Amino acid sequence: MAKKFIVANWKMNPNSVKEAEALFIGVCKSAPKMKNTEVVVCPPFVYLDRLSGIIHNAMPIGRQAKYKNQINLGSQDVFWENRGSYTGEISPLMLKDFGVKYVIVGHSERRKYLMANNEIINKKIKTALKNNLKVFFCVGEEERDEKGKYLKFLKEEIIEGFKKIPKDNLKNLFIVYEPIWAISSNKGAAADTPRNFLETSIYIRKILFFRFGRKVAHKVPILYGGSVDGKNARGFLEEGRADGILAGRAGLKVKSFVDILKSLK
Ligand code: PEP
Repeated sequence: MAKKFIVANWKMNPNSVKEAEALFIGVCKSAPKMKNTEVVVCPPFVYLDRLSGIIHNAMPIGRQAKYKNQINLGSQDVFWENRGSYTGEISPLMLKDFGVKYVIVGHSERRKYLMANNEIINKKIKTALKNNLKVFFCVGEEERDEKGKYLKFLKEEIIEGFKKIPKDNLKNLFIVYEPIWAISSNKGAAADTPRNFLETSIYIRKILFFRFGRKVAHKVPILYGGSVDGKNARGFLEEGRADGILAGRAGLKVKSFVDILKSLK
């Protein structure tokens, strides 16, 4: 069975390092032991150092040492240069120094509020991959129309995001399909269905096939994100054949995140 990836995107939460540590330690302690599953927690940048310390120094938190290899850290964004005069930015080299293995690039909230466009996202993906970071590349339409215009939109996001990225650099790339209308912070949001996810992921693989060939189309993991909880997660992985889940809101409470993990056992 192919490996599954369960990702928590904490967004701009919680408000203090104390709460961040408590949440992270809570997850480390209560996460069930799962074969062939990688859990990735993506906190705000400012908490990475402390959380990395928890993983690497195996602080005295009971069962943490046992899960040491199972819970990884990711960042919610990354800059496209390794160093230089870029006030406020965080480089791939800095993230790696903190023990970060994964980065989210192209999240819809950064596209909406922070002017991340396809060109910027493409530059970030390129640099992150060159630095051997694993990239969760987020794509997703704002609304799903009957005529299928959203498919064209998705195609453009994917093609632009992959521009001039050599095929050989793609082994660390993941696509996260997150329809914006399904993200819980949006009004009236409800999760997509596993069936729709499956159809969309087949469409995404077709795009990859025409651009990069069969091997890449087959290999790139495609995750689902949008209002996932302990009740619907399994459906996406089984019926929807997702390679993983990205959770926002459910990642912010030990119980709701661990419920997702437990539901997959
Ligand atoms: C997200 O914003 O990436 C997300 C998946 O959020 P939620 O799980 O809260 O819908």
